[in-house]
Amino acid sequence: MKVLVVEDEKKLAEYVRRALTEHNYVVDVAADGVTGLHLARETQYDLILLDVMLPGMDGFTVLREIRRDDRVPVLMLTARDKIEDRVKGLQDGADDYLGKPFALSELLARVLALGRRSGLNAAASTGQNTLRVGDLELDLLRRRAYRSGTRLDLTAKEFTLLSLLMRKHGEVISRLEIAEQVWDINFNSNTNVVEVAVRRLRGKVDDPFPVRLLHTVRGMGYVLEERTPDAQT
Ligand code: CA
Repeated sequence: MKVLVVEDEKKLAEYVRRALTEHNYVVDVAADGVTGLHLARETQYDLILLDVMLPGMDGFTVLREIRRDDRVPVLMLTARDKIEDRVKGLQDGADDYLGKPFALSELLARVLALGRRSGLNAAASTGQNTLRVGDLELDLLRRRAYRSGTRLDLTAKEFTLLSLLMRKHGEVISRLEIAEQVWDINFNSNTNVVEVAVRRLRGKVDDPFPVRLLHTVRGMGYVLEERTPDAQT
């Protein structure tokens, strides 16, 4: 996995670089926002660690620029006590945040979780970088989805959800499994976060197209498969 660290505090950047390198990540470091954005555009990273307070261009601006055309997972590094920074980061498209100062174990856990959720580890272990079901195609390395050649505008979570459904296409996947795999947490059975996410995803993946791929199996979960129009429920 290739990781970009955008952090102007030299000691911290070096500490993070060394730790991730020891865990077999390939790491680039940028000491300011402009350099970070340039690297993010030039290189295909699997994860970006992005500090908020940076000289020149701040982390929020860098994040918004990255999100114009890339769904790469972004972990924001924020001050522990600045809750508004976390909220703003998540609203602007960050996938997670880590409050400074942080323990190394905490950093590694977050990096691992984001990598796992992005589906890249699975892609690396099978050597398969593209998933296909019918005319739906997922480019796991670039984190892009296409239907009939048209690029779908998915959020990071939607991409992860879709990659899970595609990897197990034809199988019914329960809400609980989706919650665990995509959100990495156990939801109470009375929350409808999975239903809402699936509904949004279906709007993007199926609504404009004649053949539906994402189906609800009542009382059980969801299945992604090509069905002929008269077999639709
Ligand atoms: Ca800083």
